[in-house]
Amino acid sequence: MSDCLFCRIAARQSPAEIVYEDDAVVAFKDIYPKAPVHLLIVPRRHIASLTDARDDDANTLGRCVLVARRLAEATGYSERGFRLSVNTGPEGGQVVYHVHFHFTAGRRQRADA
Ligand code: AMP
Ligand code: ZN
Repeated sequence: MSDCLFCRIAARQSPAEIVYEDDAVVAFKDIYPKAPVHLLIVPRRHIASLTDARDDDANTLGRCVLVARRLAEATGYSERGFRLSVNTGPEGGQVVYHVHFHFTAGRRQRADA
């Protein structure tokens, strides 16, 4: 999937500030942060959107969620809290079609923001 930006970032073929990686998951700073802390958590495997996720992606997607816990610990937001969100499809605001979890923290989160 060399035409996919987040596949290229995961493979270190495109620049990004990577803050965490393991064999299944990569996390990096969002280039246009919408909160004091704004990270993106992506599976290395290309899954275009949650709509395209298969049952056997459960482990990979679960690992992405658990990376959020690590990032909260690393950034000091475990207690204060954070938001984890997945924009899905055109009306869900998805722009990049490689599943990603937005990790935002550092200000009060509005339900619709
Ligand atoms: P979404 O609207 O959920 O598809 O979000 C895509 C996110 O990717 C946006 O928050 C962008 O700011 C972010 N983004 C786009 N290009 C890059 C990039 N090269 N490096 C890091 N984040 C990016
Ligand atoms: Zn991809």
